[in-house]
Amino acid sequence: MDIKILGGKNEIGGNKILLEHKGTRIFLDFGMSFGESGKYFSEFVQPRKCGCLSDFFEFGLLPEQKGLYREDYLKHMGLPPEKRDVDAVLLSHAHADHAQYIHFLRKDIPIFCTRESKIILEALENTGASGFSDLVTYLESFAFYENRNGGLSRVDRKKEEFVFDRDYVEMKPYEKYRIGSLEVEMLPVDHSLPGACGYIIYSDEGNLVYTGDIRFHGYVEEQSKEFVARAKASSPRWMISEGTRIDSDRIDSEEGVKKDISAAISDAKGLVLIEHPIRDLYRAKSIYDATRENGRDFVVGLKLAYLINLMGELSPFSISDVKILVPRKKWGLISKEPFDWPQVCQDYDKWEREFLDRDNSITFKNLKKNEDSFVLSMNLWAMNQLIDIRPKNALWIKSNCEPFNDDMELDEQRKQNWLKHFNITQVSAHASGHASGPEIRDMIKRINPENLIPVHTEHPKLFKKN
Ligand SMILES: [Zn+2]
Ligand SMILES: [Zn+2]
Repeated sequence: MDIKILGGKNEIGGNKILLEHKGTRIFLDFGMSFGESGKYFSEFVQPRKCGCLSDFFEFGLLPEQKGLYREDYLKHMGLPPEKRDVDAVLLSHAHADHAQYIHFLRKDIPIFCTRESKIILEALENTGASGFSDLVTYLESFAFYENRNGGLSRVDRKKEEFVFDRDYVEMKPYEKYRIGSLEVEMLPVDHSLPGACGYIIYSDEGNLVYTGDIRFHGYVEEQSKEFVARAKASSPRWMISEGTRIDSDRIDSEEGVKKDISAAISDAKGLVLIEHPIRDLYRAKSIYDATRENGRDFVVGLKLAYLINLMGELSPFSISDVKILVPRKKWGLISKEPFDWPQVCQDYDKWEREFLDRDNSITFKNLKKNEDSFVLSMNLWAMNQLIDIRPKNALWIKSNCEPFNDDMELDEQRKQNWLKHFNITQVSAHASGHASGPEIRDMIKRINPENLIPVHTEHPKLFKKN
């Protein structure tokens, strides 16, 4: 087996790992490297759509490989058509640093993953604004159709005959799937969003274990323990292990986060605002439970409402268990009465409209009336709603990671200005999505592979030390 780490080496995320065995070629994840991408691009300097792959090749953000990339991009770049030369992508979970660059793949490359991962990617595709998010479908770019006037129009997503479904395979846990000369098994693990998994790859030259992103302190920690037991039983020749926190001894607990949030809410006099990773439904469950313990209602924004709704039974709580805050957008007609409903709808994107007039939909006016009965899901891009709410005695709970780059530092400083302006105090309650150093070392010792390949870490040398 030939193992090439084409992304995720000496950095946290951007995993793109190519396995080759007797003509079978499989990628483990196809993610975006925030670190590398952030060196050249930002909110203001974006890769150009017209550049297709070239803006990404220029800075080594995508590996230059044949038989991998979308046909419409190759054509627009003036390159000859290629034959598919990758048998599958095995996705460990739906975080962007593992999944975002699926956008660039040919539509006929099968993508193996869990049901939850596919749903999260679907939510991302349908609610995101990025021009590079064909994650579960594929819109043929740079194509024209003949319009009613006989002229040419550029295609968009409304032209259904140009939108294709990607080839997803939803995997069942602990079942083996044959891909060419290899067999692959998906094993669910605990991480900071639902649907994360590791893999065992079986080959006649020995077996390979891939951890994906893993932790042992969340609500499904038993899954991670089961992963370790089964990985050990496969007597792996190779183990590709994440090591995000190999340098940290701190033992986290999601249950502890729930308790901290609950204590903070119980001390709060007015509205509680909580900043949290939006796709981490385990954290959302912690917040929901803590909110209920204190007799308050959890209020979610439209993006989180959309995800909970799409997840259905797989979500830890139902959309009818929470309130949905409909923000004022565009003309802000939602809070003007009397209003013309079709006109109100015009203020919102299509995916948002199903949440505007539910029994549990509310606006800032409802919040203002009873500030001490709500815990409001908040994030930095929705902060401007504070101007409508003007909360008194509010508390802000920061329940996500500390800033780890310049852009995030600036966002945090700006947030502090808003908190100061509205006289809001802040407390923190967070647990990482990754195992600590001692836990990773213990996992490796138990699984006991012949060869260890560290990825998703800035400290690969710390693995050698142990
Ligand atoms: Zn990751
Ligand atoms: Zn992750």
